[in-house]
Amino acid sequence: MSNEQRVVTVMNHDVIINVHSIIPLSRINGPGKRMVVFFQGCNNKCAGCFNPETHPFIRIAEHSPGTIFSNFYRPGIEGLTVSGGDPFYQRRGLLRLLKSAKDDYGLSTVVYTGFTYEQLAASTLCRAIFRYTDVLIDGRFDETKREPTMLSRGSTNQRFHFMSNRYGEEDFVMPGRIELIVGSDGTITYTGFSKVA
Ligand code: SF4
Repeated sequence: MSNEQRVVTVMNHDVIINVHSIIPLSRINGPGKRMVVFFQGCNNKCAGCFNPETHPFIRIAEHSPGTIFSNFYRPGIEGLTVSGGDPFYQRRGLLRLLKSAKDDYGLSTVVYTGFTYEQLAASTLCRAIFRYTDVLIDGRFDETKREPTMLSRGSTNQRFHFMSNRYGEEDFVMPGRIELIVGSDGTITYTGFSKVA
């Protein structure tokens, strides 16, 4: 049995995810109201990346999927979006998080990655992840091809892969490209697909 097959077999055990940040409720990271989990760590080196602070593979905040939902889940949200960093550097955690989102909370799932679908599809573990993914948005950010519309992607080379029949491209036209979230403690968080000036 390969390491990846073994991970799939034991995925019901909780795993720890190194998380950069979590937004309990966003309206521009996929269809409807969504919780957004940003994984820490990325080595894809896209020039002009909006989130360079998510690149270092350093411990920021460690959560199990269980503590993510118990601490940040808000009833009434439509789905979970996972971004980064790049979630595919923590594949075991990504699989467990998506499985819990679907099986335990009935959420739709959207995943952003700088890898291409074809690069990931060679992996047994990634194919298991795809079974719990409604939409995969793939490809490195290309600052020479910035998305000019309200579609929720950074650049036009990035592709929407609809892995289930839950959504279509029309569901990814967002009400804005930047979202400003003011926390109860006054902290301000920006998220979205354009740089804040
Ligand atoms: S994959 Fe995402 S986080 Fe990583 S460098 Fe590219 S745009 Fe930035």
